Amino acid sequence: MSSDRLSIEAIFVPGFGEPVHAETYLQALSETEWTELRAEATRSRRSGNPVLLCGDCRGSVYGRESTAGRRHCYHFGTDVKDCRWATANAANFRSIDASKFKGNQEGERHKALKAMICEILSFDVDAADAGIIPERYTKGTDGEYAFPDVFASSWQGGEAAFEIQLATTQLPTITRREDFYVQNEIRLCWVVSGDVGQLDRRAFKDIYFRNDGQILSVDAEVLTAAKAAGAPRFRLMRLLPGAVHDGFTPIWRERIVAPDDIDWGRQGDRPKSVRGSYDNYLDSLIERDEELKRSREHIYAALTECDHEQVGRLWDEIVAIVGGAPWSALGDPYDTVRSFGVLATVRRNEITVQTKIDLANLPHLVNSLLLEPKGRRIWSNAFKTLAAAHKLELLKAPSVAKKLERNLAGLHGQSTIENMAGRAFDVLFPEGAFQRLRLTEP
Ligand SMILES: [Zn+2]
Repeated sequence: MSSDRLSIEAIFVPGFGEPVHAETYLQALSETEWTELRAEATRSRRSGNPVLLCGDCRGSVYGRESTAGRRHCYHFGTDVKDCRWATANAANFRSIDASKFKGNQEGERHKALKAMICEILSFDVDAADAGIIPERYTKGTDGEYAFPDVFASSWQGGEAAFEIQLATTQLPTITRREDFYVQNEIRLCWVVSGDVGQLDRRAFKDIYFRNDGQILSVDAEVLTAAKAAGAPRFRLMRLLPGAVHDGFTPIWRERIVAPDDIDWGRQGDRPKSVRGSYDNYLDSLIERDEELKRSREHIYAALTECDHEQVGRLWDEIVAIVGGAPWSALGDPYDTVRSFGVLATVRRNEITVQTKIDLANLPHLVNSLLLEPKGRRIWSNAFKTLAAAHKLELLKAPSVAKKLERNLAGLHGQSTIENMAGRAFDVLFPEGAFQRLRLTEP
């Protein structure tokens, strides 16, 4: 058991309403202040009104210094307290931010961003009244605790943690924090500094690739905008599909937004733009492009007629515009047309495949035309993505769920055929385009 485990991580100190991170606070004191705090802790405890308290159990603590000069706090007495930092209990609890203060080396940039977030949030009257606190000791269930960079007691109807994402943050730390905030129903907002150039770093990808390509940032310009508006502002950075003739190669778009432009979701959710998703945006690009729009409609019509020659011709035309695999590479044309027909039926909620089965009997149609014939099972993952977007109840039909599970297991996690089909597939079926996105073409 290391000494880290034994010291008290958060303390109440005179002049602060909330617990502070013990080591950060203590190390910042001058020799004189530190000496006086130690004396005051001892004296005030004797008088029955202790000023230095444990951040968890509020028991009185005293200040100590290790032989290496490390300042820390310790409980008075030897009682086993109802406290996660009492010696006997300490091993059972963990801080999700144990590394956050290590060596007390918080960068200047990080500090400046934290102050900026506090100032921006303070323009919201409710948030300011309820309290905006940097590094607030935040208790979770299961004995976990965290020190969010900025904690707001009331933000968009609930508690919110703003965590500054640094280039060095590792994915295990990211997911630990995310899990902590979800479990404790605290909204988590990752914030970066407003420099697009840094966004291809792994640590940032680890966040926005799990949030529909979106991430919030703050910088001096955002703060100026907030001051001018007298209300919070953020920079919303989004990876969105680029131009049609550039094959939708994604580009970063950014704008300064008001809190109303963000869907803050429920507590535990991650914030997203109130505008459409990446996939919706891609669909709107296609709808606005006369040529692609027409080709897509003609393909749907040809699928309904089961005219594989016409479908193949139109597919290759789309490939010529946006890229993708040639029609001949997709396998047996008849199977591909039947599969696409079922996928289009799910997408459009309209029979787009040659069949006698009624739309009301969609599970049967999906099973018999897509999930059962061996040659068409390769499109099972594409079907799952489309159904998740348009026909969630279809995935709950036992017969469909069972076949789907079998077929997906049969794919052994190989790259799926719709990935291989490429951007032309995104034109027919934009749902899942973000999920299929590759920033570097193979
Ligand atoms: Zn305690």
